Amino acid sequence: MLVKGVVFYLESDLPSEAKFLLEDFRLAVNNSIRAGLQARVTSRNALCKIAYKEFRHYHPRMYSQHLVSAFEVACSILKNHRMRLRKSVTCRIPFVQRLMMKAENQAYKLDRRSGVIDLPIRAGCHVELRLIVSQYHRKYLDDMSLSLGSLTVLPDRVVVAFRKDALKPFVPESFLSLDTNERSLDGVFVEGDVAKAIKADFPEVAIIQQRHHDRRKRLQKKKAHDRRTSRNLCRREGAREHHRIDYRLHQVANSVLKFAEERRSAIVLEDLKGFKSRRSKELNRRLSLWPRRKLHQIIEYKAQWKGIPVVKVDPRYSSRTCPICRKIQYSRMGAKFKCVCGWHMDRHINASINLLQTAISKGMAGGLWFNPGAFQHDVMMILYEPAMAARSELNGTSGIAGVS
Ligand SMILES: [Zn+2]
Repeated sequence: MLVKGVVFYLESDLPSEAKFLLEDFRLAVNNSIRAGLQARVTSRNALCKIAYKEFRHYHPRMYSQHLVSAFEVACSILKNHRMRLRKSVTCRIPFVQRLMMKAENQAYKLDRRSGVIDLPIRAGCHVELRLIVSQYHRKYLDDMSLSLGSLTVLPDRVVVAFRKDALKPFVPESFLSLDTNERSLDGVFVEGDVAKAIKADFPEVAIIQQRHHDRRKRLQKKKAHDRRTSRNLCRREGAREHHRIDYRLHQVANSVLKFAEERRSAIVLEDLKGFKSRRSKELNRRLSLWPRRKLHQIIEYKAQWKGIPVVKVDPRYSSRTCPICRKIQYSRMGAKFKCVCGWHMDRHINASINLLQTAISKGMAGGLWFNPGAFQHDVMMILYEPAMAARSELNGTSGIAGVS
């Protein structure tokens, strides 16, 4: 079962009854976290058993299904808490600070045509939440193959989970093998006898990371006397950085998947799990794996949603092996990969050819065969480049430059 959360903003402010409900819900979650820790229980049912009666007493007017879902939220928070404890990360007893509530799909009604949510507060009291519905939202609301999951209500927006049975991935007619780099996805597209180089560039991601890193450094220095402010400001910087990078990664993933869907390609990616770099702290930051892992995550779940097959292969030696004679080179310096047998290729594209060959040799690529000799050296297909971003971010100077 695949789940996708879709954010809806509200036409008007949350009614006051609903605000009270959010506060009640938060209180119930925080109380059940404490109850769960005290009784050392982990499952929702166990928590229900020990705490329900007492909670009914404390929150006499709350709709009982909301109370059960408060237990569920508390359980998932406790699960994370235990995980941190197991990793012996020092942490305080968790509590929910932000106003929120979660309702299971039986506990609310959404009219998919008009976009109105009917949320029960307590016996005999319901509120209507009118959602702002755009074309993007229509795509999910009108698709009746999607069922409704839980609803998360926040003070200014709601998140509706749409659920869908996982599609069986299609039988690929071609292959798209991608080597993930700090600033680009480079790879080959193989269809029949023809192989072409492919590129999706996202140089801004590294630039944004660098810029926000510098800014954080500066803030830390400037606010060295006030740790709390420094921490808050840095957190805000971090959230901004994530937003900006996320947006670009989604764009890149969308263009890759659009291509794969049109050509009925399977996507071959390197498996970044367990991939650790042993470099200096400075270089580690610069070559941070986070955006690459995130990009893979996005590609994978979007591909699942669309039924596009994704194959992940072990990337070992992929950047140092010659795809023709299988010789492994000692070093991989330089932008070009050159082999004694005469094969030469862009280093990143060479790596993606090796990824594809690993997939083929492991039988993960169906009956496909790839002949590096058929590679068209002079063709480069661009899947994505920064100029394709629909929304360019304006700042003080780029607004003027953008006119030309
Ligand atoms: Zn060779």
